Amino acid sequence: MRIAFDNSYARLPAQMFTPQLPTPVAAPAVIAVNEGLAELLGLDPSALHKPEAAQVFAGNHIPDGAAPLSQLYAGHQFGHWNPQLGDGRAVLLGEVIGTDGIRRDIQLKGAGRTPYSRGGDGRAWLGPVMREYLVSEAMYALGVPTTRALAAVTTGEQVYREDILPGAIITRVAQSHIRVGTFQVLAARGETAALQALTDHVIARHYPAATGPADLLDMVIDRTAKLIAQWMGLGFIHGVMNTDNVAIAGETIDYGPCAFMDVYHPQTVFSAIDQYGRYAYANQPAIGAWNMAQLATSLIPLMADRDQAITDFTAAVHRMPGIYQAAWLQVFGAKLGIADPTEDDRNLIEALLSLMATDGADFTNTFAALGTAAARDQFLDHDAFDAWHSRWQARGPDAALMAQANPRIISRNHRIEEAILAGRDGDYAPFTALLAAVTRPYAPLTAETAAYARAPTTDERVTRTFCGT
Ligand code: AMP
Ligand code: MG
Repeated sequence: MRIAFDNSYARLPAQMFTPQLPTPVAAPAVIAVNEGLAELLGLDPSALHKPEAAQVFAGNHIPDGAAPLSQLYAGHQFGHWNPQLGDGRAVLLGEVIGTDGIRRDIQLKGAGRTPYSRGGDGRAWLGPVMREYLVSEAMYALGVPTTRALAAVTTGEQVYREDILPGAIITRVAQSHIRVGTFQVLAARGETAALQALTDHVIARHYPAATGPADLLDMVIDRTAKLIAQWMGLGFIHGVMNTDNVAIAGETIDYGPCAFMDVYHPQTVFSAIDQYGRYAYANQPAIGAWNMAQLATSLIPLMADRDQAITDFTAAVHRMPGIYQAAWLQVFGAKLGIADPTEDDRNLIEALLSLMATDGADFTNTFAALGTAAARDQFLDHDAFDAWHSRWQARGPDAALMAQANPRIISRNHRIEEAILAGRDGDYAPFTALLAAVTRPYAPLTAETAAYARAPTTDERVTRTFCGT
């Protein structure tokens, strides 16, 4: 398998990473490969199906030109500072420049222990690998900036969690794996030269128009605010928005206990470890701003006039809610078929969401059904919905805009769980079928895909998700 690597991270200051080979595994077997993504990366899609590819995606064979390494980072986890995290189970093979001219990382997640593993085994089990593959590719198809999945393999080895489980590795592709926590660790250690090198690297790689750290901060805030607005528009809950799980390039990263809501409620939490609901659906924009404040703090050491920088960076973070609110209005306006939403439309949107929350409407299916008779069925109080509906109709909604803004199919939790359960028994057919459905989210439903649009019954509903460890 030929990959035209060009490894710029490996040329950064040595304290930012550790050269690290993946630990070979017993018996790699491919579960899924992504031909479309391979093509974008300039790889030969047919090479994905050769036996050698499984060896590459398992970390058993290192392709020519790779410079395998694990990255150092730190982060605030649930608000608490952790001075060292890092790739505890991931190895960056290297970077490639795609046919679109964009540089991307190719990383093996679940590739064995690294100097940053702390107590962990460096491995992943099949469940979280399938979940990340499904949800990240679904997000891409939904038009949300995200890391992607190039391949998933089983290792032929067992992983010990609360159970004995099949081991797996996902090949993750990202514009980079640089996180807010990558900046934080260097700032906290007083590594100002390395921090400057990282900042220069990130500007050149992701924000070439930025003139310096202040400008970079503005641009990261802008992308992150818009990213979170897109999550909100899809009922997506990331679940673990720690600063080490916030990509500086503005992509959704680290699909652990993430989930799409079925029934709409703003305080929805899925993650089993999110005891206090810090990362609940409605908290995501505020947490996003909190995370940007941590990035701002990390950039201060680069500024000649620190007092001025504190003033300026505080103002930059305070601009985030306004950017987010404008993006949110655009996203939800489109969902209602309104291309140029005004503040009055904000009330219209909020009125609908409030009815949905009160009546336990399905988030995705309510929006998908708007404009058809089926929408009314999502509500208990039909009079209230009818009154809202007349108000909305008076606004002259554009059905074509709605069709592009309201997916029919999302990767619903109960379907993901079903695919994982079958996968544990070696049956990947449910995974493959689900992947096909969730990667065409806006297509009209067919006989094959209609079942994936159905909301779970009360019995089927999955309300708890777990970290991908
Ligand atoms: P996450 O919650 O997946 O974002 O992971 C938080 C930190 O724990 C990161 O530094 C991961 O690399 C590390 N980690 C998670 N799972 C494992 C594992 N099985 N072995 C080693 N490190 C891990
Ligand atoms: Mg993480």
